[in-house]
Amino acid sequence: MDFPLNKLLITRRTVMLAAAVTGVGGAAKAQAPAATGRNAGHYRFRIGEIQAAVLSDGLLAGPPKVYASDAPEMELREALMCAFLPTDTMTLNLNTLLIETGGRRVLIEAGAGQSMGPNGGRLFDNLSAIGLRPDDIDVVVVSHTHPDHVGNLRSATGGKAFPRATVYVPEADWDFFVRNDPDLSYMPVNAEFRRRFGEAIKRSVEPIAGDVVLYRPGSEIVAGLTTLPASGHTPGMASFLVHSGSDQLLLTADLAYHPIVNVDRPWRPGPDRDKDAALQSRRRIFDRAAADKLLVLGFHYPFPGLGRMLKTDSGYAWVPANWQF
Ligand SMILES: [Zn+2]
Repeated sequence: MDFPLNKLLITRRTVMLAAAVTGVGGAAKAQAPAATGRNAGHYRFRIGEIQAAVLSDGLLAGPPKVYASDAPEMELREALMCAFLPTDTMTLNLNTLLIETGGRRVLIEAGAGQSMGPNGGRLFDNLSAIGLRPDDIDVVVVSHTHPDHVGNLRSATGGKAFPRATVYVPEADWDFFVRNDPDLSYMPVNAEFRRRFGEAIKRSVEPIAGDVVLYRPGSEIVAGLTTLPASGHTPGMASFLVHSGSDQLLLTADLAYHPIVNVDRPWRPGPDRDKDAALQSRRRIFDRAAADKLLVLGFHYPFPGLGRMLKTDSGYAWVPANWQF
């Protein structure tokens, strides 16, 4: 697919516009900080024989109401205050997952880079902290094509950020967001934000467009990694099941943004394109997680994003996993 050259020339402007939305404009050009003196942005664990590491790409933030679109104002405020969280802005993590299975290194979710503000793009430092470089990655699989999941596919110079990787993208998202000019008026953000959001998707995937592999959720990508249909948030969104022997890890992608508002409370994410389908996917997959007591990774949950779902009288509760050294 062809992209006009001028799209390659607006990186800085797009980044600054995106940063302005999150209210941190001046820092838009800041490089990812050196690891020294910082807390760890990686977390290793195992799923059976599979070695895994959560690699943080950093943070993004926005108005809480965006992530809890049908929450009554006062109840949302109270829920945030009871969780000792700010009431004017909600911070979300970007928890990508690296797994090593069948001799291949597979990155699940590419992360935002700076497509959603200046506090993303830390993935590469965290990869380096565990001794790996971008060309050590064999496969990248994304759950859906929102900018915070595909932003890092494009390098700073406009090429492939993971030069050797085969990139897997859900076909229905590629059709909706990349092959077409989608109507994003369902998103609870202003028209300018929507325009940049749509543009950031096309720019992010442009370097891999020639050899992307499109998948339908339900298929196995590599041994030990199965994709599960979870559409609603976007037309093609997938959840993932990483499995080895009797051990399993369920990745819920963007079925929920923050457990305080979308798990412990039933509020619906504003960016869900089909809110009823998203609700059905959320219930189906959360019910499975609760029934099978699965270890769960939430892409946007507080780092490292690992825990379990508990079924309660009124819905669900998020139970973070204990830290392991
Ligand atoms: Zn997301």
